Amino acid sequence: MDFLPLFHNLKGRPVLLVGGGEVALRKGRLLADAGAVLRVVAPQVDAQLLELATTSLGRVELRGYQAADLDGVGLVIAATDDEALNAQVSVHAQARGIPVNVVDAPKLCSVIFPAIVDRSPLIVAVTSGGDAPVLARLIRAKIETWIPATYGQLAGLSKRFRAQVKAKFADVQQRRVFWEEVFQGPIAESVFAGKLGEGERLLAEKVSGAAPKSLGEVYLVGAGPGDPDLLTFRALRLMQQADVVLYDRLVAPEIVELCRRDAERVYVGKRRAEHALPQEQINQQLVTLAKQGKRVLRLKGGDPFIFGRGGEEIEELAAQGIPFQVVPGITAASGCAAYAGIPLTHRDYAQSVRFVTGHLQDGSCNLPWADLIAPGQTLVFYMGLTGLPVICEQLIAHGRGPETPVALIQQGTTRHQRVFTGTLGSLPGLLVAQAIQAPTLVIVGEVVQLREKLAWFEGAQSAD
Ligand code: SAH
Repeated sequence: MDFLPLFHNLKGRPVLLVGGGEVALRKGRLLADAGAVLRVVAPQVDAQLLELATTSLGRVELRGYQAADLDGVGLVIAATDDEALNAQVSVHAQARGIPVNVVDAPKLCSVIFPAIVDRSPLIVAVTSGGDAPVLARLIRAKIETWIPATYGQLAGLSKRFRAQVKAKFADVQQRRVFWEEVFQGPIAESVFAGKLGEGERLLAEKVSGAAPKSLGEVYLVGAGPGDPDLLTFRALRLMQQADVVLYDRLVAPEIVELCRRDAERVYVGKRRAEHALPQEQINQQLVTLAKQGKRVLRLKGGDPFIFGRGGEEIEELAAQGIPFQVVPGITAASGCAAYAGIPLTHRDYAQSVRFVTGHLQDGSCNLPWADLIAPGQTLVFYMGLTGLPVICEQLIAHGRGPETPVALIQQGTTRHQRVFTGTLGSLPGLLVAQAIQAPTLVIVGEVVQLREKLAWFEGAQSAD
């Protein structure tokens, strides 16, 4: 290990900043954030830095550096563009045992600045010891995305209860379990969902020991149309903390793989007209598992509230008083359209878009055809493969031109994506000889012709 990471308490301590330009300003901001008193020395000093030094109750000397500037400071930063001067500051500081950082010169540093993820009071620091600063910054960017912005609030909340918890539980092991439950359960989830007051109330209850045995909760999560890259951060986080995962056929195996390794996985099926588990049983199972105190993840293809029966599933939970949250996902229409190069609306071609279920009962047509033929409207049919001939026929019969472009997107956004295009008049015939794989989405409208110009995803090009 080349460096030992330590976190430096600079509150109210003088720090010497040699240099008055932009680089010095950047360091000055960080130091001021940490509560340091800035002493800036340079012949010329950036106006913002001047202000920063003043508000930090420090001072600015508009002159060259002198060795005596080191008197009484706890940390020194050399940020001038004069290498010799920077080196001199470093030698002086090290001779006096004062930690020193020289910007962009790791060899002259006794301490270095890491890349920082700030969720105060929670702070993550990453460094490559100056060998690969860009890599350290990229890793920081990854960590930024892993740690929800509200973690800081959660840490702040726990700080307020720390003494109380320590007084109540003498045993270290007990305290560890207590906090693990706080940070991974409903209290943390309340804070992440923006309900700080609720989190605080639950935590107060838990500390006072009045909390009932933890009631489980349910996360109704949209997994997007197939490409795992289209998951939301929140979806991924909940997938990694759930105890049980209920998923159906629409959820890509690669996505199920991203769930916590030791989570129990339950396949609840659902094919068109052939449900592995009837909907009522799924609803009931969610309730039963949550009542056992489990964190239950109901993972659904696309968005749970778009042809996903998500509303029905949470109705039962709400009725039984089980806590739940709904995480939106990218619906098949958005995902397939983007990956196939078909904008769903376009100033010139479509001013509205309509999502329709093409699941026609017994082949009978109960769709509002007259509404569906309005001009300037893109239609997206979910579950429309079986009904496709009827859909095309009825749209033409009600007055939409047989030349209207249509696309059928199979397994959109996945590496198996294929796109078939034709017109209302021709597409059903073109598909007869093709072995179409579910799921498929049908897009009807002038916008379909734009894909020749706009397609970018490999599968978008493959199967006309
Ligand atoms: N809640 C889902 C839709 C469920 S209904 C969502 O918001 O996307 C199931 C229908 O969604 C399928 O019949 C198909 O029409 C469509 N679908 C879902 N994923 C798809 C995909 N990757 N490619 C094409 N169609 C898809």
